[in-house]
Amino acid sequence: MKILEHLKSVKTHPTAEMVYNVVKKDIPSITLATVYRNLNCLSEDGKIVKLEINGEFRFDADMGKHQHCVCKKCGKILDVFQKEISEYALKKIKSTDFVPSGVQVIFYGNCKHENKRAKNNKRPEIVKDNSGVKKR
Ligand SMILES: [Zn+2]
Repeated sequence: MKILEHLKSVKTHPTAEMVYNVVKKDIPSITLATVYRNLNCLSEDGKIVKLEINGEFRFDADMGKHQHCVCKKCGKILDVFQKEISEYALKKIKSTDFVPSGVQVIFYGNCKHENKRAKNNKRPEIVKDNSGVKKR
């Protein structure tokens, strides 16, 4: 199926609309509603992960235990693979009214790019060291 195929080929955690815009090139008759329905079915079947980030649904075909890092400035979603974090959260949860079957860990912060930009804005004097001359 084109939708799952596409989702497996990207690391961008696209929205349904982003998936639709790609898949419709192969299947011009497909509608956004169909893409939505398929994505929801796939996540209910446990074939993909549905994430809610910044009020938007994002989809991920990577079913390995991993965590997500969301940049608060540019909205980029990065994967980190530290399965011990998810395992620890699952092991440590204490509830008598709830049996967890999975966990989603989302970190919020700045991506490398935005972090660099913030630093450069704060300290423009760093630029003068970019002369290319190596000091010993
Ligand atoms: Zn992911």
